[in-house]
Amino acid sequence: MTKPVVAIVGRPNVGKSTIFNRIVGERISIVEDIPGVTRDRIYSNAEWLTHEFNIIDTGGIEIGDAPFIEQIRQQAEIAIDEADVIIFLVNGREGATAADEEVAKILYRSKKPVVLAVNKVDNPEMRDQIYDFYSLGFGDPHPISGSHGLGLGDLLDEVVRAFPAQQEDEYSEDVIKFSLIGRPNVGKSSLFNALLGEDRVIVSDIEGTTRDAVDSAYSFEGQEYVIIDTAGMRKKGKVYESTEKYSVLRALRAIERSDVVLVVLNGEEGIREQDKRIAGYAHEAGRAVVIVVNKWDAVEKDEKTMKLFEQNIREHFQFLSYAPIVFVSAKTKKRLHTLMPVIDMASENHSLRVQSSILNEVIMDAIAMNPTPTDKGKRLKVFYATQVAVKPPTFVIFVNEPELMHFSYERFLENRIREAFGFEGTPIRIISRHRK
Ligand code: GDP
Ligand code: GDP
Repeated sequence: MTKPVVAIVGRPNVGKSTIFNRIVGERISIVEDIPGVTRDRIYSNAEWLTHEFNIIDTGGIEIGDAPFIEQIRQQAEIAIDEADVIIFLVNGREGATAADEEVAKILYRSKKPVVLAVNKVDNPEMRDQIYDFYSLGFGDPHPISGSHGLGLGDLLDEVVRAFPAQQEDEYSEDVIKFSLIGRPNVGKSSLFNALLGEDRVIVSDIEGTTRDAVDSAYSFEGQEYVIIDTAGMRKKGKVYESTEKYSVLRALRAIERSDVVLVVLNGEEGIREQDKRIAGYAHEAGRAVVIVVNKWDAVEKDEKTMKLFEQNIREHFQFLSYAPIVFVSAKTKKRLHTLMPVIDMASENHSLRVQSSILNEVIMDAIAMNPTPTDKGKRLKVFYATQVAVKPPTFVIFVNEPELMHFSYERFLENRIREAFGFEGTPIRIISRHRK
């Protein structure tokens, strides 16, 4: 199911990032040690009551050194392009300003629902200040206070009411959805074109139901695939298209809609910090991951080069130890045929279900080999394990006390599970749960 997307727009300092953080709440990163994954967040999952959605803080998207008014105009355009519902945020302490009216003008032109929120209404006496904002023409203004956490429930009720009717799954279960993500210029669009080359049957261009994302469907050797559109893959000529934050945002959106994420590296340039950050997003989202080293034609090599490059990748991407590595050239198409089978394999493992009886045998054998840890004289007891989900494979292990399950022991169990069942190309998750 595609989750609705909410975007917050408004001029600087009205409190967009404060509200974003309030709505998102504290979310603990699974991969704490990847720099930049949780910092500078402008996009996140969130939920209100039973509704899950994604939220964008457009204020975090800087458009180069464009003047202030152009920045907020572009941010409003992004909100219109990317979101199902827009929260238009203004500052109750300053009244409606010319910049607010500028944002309003752009939002009028879209058909997207807009919910007007007046921030910094920190106490009930200040509620009179909202009347000024009726002039913006978006109906009832909702008074809120980001710093005091007031009014957010009413605001989110209104936002949720404006969500589009339940969206169907876009594609059938059998279709493998994948995306190409990576820094600018690593060769994503070239790979996209090469993959859609002459020996593929292009099924159709499937228009996204509510957004203007265009995915590409094709079939190859009896399997159907959809390549999820990301920024820069098909350039639309918009001003904000080349900004880094926007391409990160689009990558995150694409990752979320994919089964398999191809993390594309530039073989000619080697590994950069930004590559790690991008790969970290895919891992955190629990998608299958394939590392694709492109431009292999441009690398001067001998028989050791590939091995050395691989070692280098393993050192830099320790959290992706399960991800297969493929070396290709989009330009010469050399080795490109090695990619599809790896995508198939990663996808298969991503939705692999294992038998409970065998799983428990594996776990019990592991414990016999390496006894469970103790803490203050108390030993971790493992009762049984069960697979509760796929995409990614997720295991619940019932134990006497979950706090006794140390990270290192969990890692040991993960390794044993991988040795027994494979799971190449996919992260797996282990959750320890208390059983009475
Ligand atoms: P942004 O530029 O729109 O993302 O705004 P920020 O979230 O960075 O907030 C700008 C300033 O307004 C910060 O100093 C916040 O602490 C402050 N602020 C945010 N929300 C409130 C609020 O509800 N009441 C008050 N008094 N200050 C707020
Ligand atoms: P994107 O920004 O990641 O979509 O990258 P592009 O596909 O636009 O490619 C960036 C540049 O790298 C272009 O000049 C391509 O011609 C070049 N390029 C892409 N793939 C290859 C490759 O496999 N080998 C070589 N030598 N150049 C490539």
